[in-house]
Amino acid sequence: MKFLFIPLFLLSVLSAVAQVKSVRIAPWRHNAQGAYSIIHDDYCVPMTHGIRNYADTMAFNRNIPFAFGVVSKHCTYQDWAYAKKMIKRGHEPINHTHQHRSADSLTWWPDCYVLQPQDYEEEYLQCHQLMKKNLGEEPTFFIYPYDIHTDTSNAYIQSIGYQGARAGHYNRVNPYDFASPMELDFFMVNGELTIEQMDSVADLTASSGGFAIQSMHGVNDGSWNTLWLKDYRKYLDSLQAKQERGELWVATPSEVLAYHKTRKAVSLTKVEANGETTISFLLDAQQLGENEPVSMTLLLEVENAEAVEIRQKRKKLSTVVVAPNLVMVEVEPTRELVVSAER
Ligand SMILES: [Zn+2]
Repeated sequence: MKFLFIPLFLLSVLSAVAQVKSVRIAPWRHNAQGAYSIIHDDYCVPMTHGIRNYADTMAFNRNIPFAFGVVSKHCTYQDWAYAKKMIKRGHEPINHTHQHRSADSLTWWPDCYVLQPQDYEEEYLQCHQLMKKNLGEEPTFFIYPYDIHTDTSNAYIQSIGYQGARAGHYNRVNPYDFASPMELDFFMVNGELTIEQMDSVADLTASSGGFAIQSMHGVNDGSWNTLWLKDYRKYLDSLQAKQERGELWVATPSEVLAYHKTRKAVSLTKVEANGETTISFLLDAQQLGENEPVSMTLLLEVENAEAVEIRQKRKKLSTVVVAPNLVMVEVEPTRELVVSAER
């Protein structure tokens, strides 16, 4: 009997180690506390050349991707070529209209031309098409000139395929489970918001677990309320530190929206058998719409995080031990996961 006793004993230890007590999707990628996007408005407008001259490299060097709002009428061949370089560095081009006209009347500019629905094709769709033609990809996020929109303009933007728009309130962090990506709240560098206040917004984003959009124009150039180099550097350094400490996930708006959408569309089930746990994903097609699910960060509560192996399609995934009993893994939520004791 002795030779039988030992293998059985070992098997029971392995089962205990592999057991998954709970599994959940992290609120934001890499289990960051909050999500955060930078938007630089007015790319291609001549006075805003600091986006390509400074912001691009400074942000890239700190592992911070941003979005840049294209005003297509002003884009030269060089602007389009440079935009492609910025895309390769992880920055996201977004639609900021063809010639920067307002969707509604402006109190401070009584004579300004106000777009009518018959202008939308020329102003909104034309920018979309020029971006597609010159950059090789379709934008999915929209920002309004002067931060002014109407329900009609927003319905049009959505009808031509946009997933999100900066069209909510000023000076608010979007909650973790924001309901309407077409009306996202945001902050704008407007001459009153100091670098210290921007830092507080980033802290608030982490502590509230929400999603902040911090908008600005150029850097060290002649654009509206440009940020000077020393301020921009200080701001980015602080963001980089917050990202490295796991407080913020700094990503482009469309990356954040895609994660948010997939998180809402996925539900998880787990089944224990033979010392292994199988985790399956159920995708809500209605919630996902025409979008493809993106990879998700999962958190698994286990007996011993150091001794867990997670496989998908028989391939071992790399994991991060967050705590002695908590393991984190990035997964495509399309094929089931098998969790077992390390072999
Ligand atoms: Zn603008």
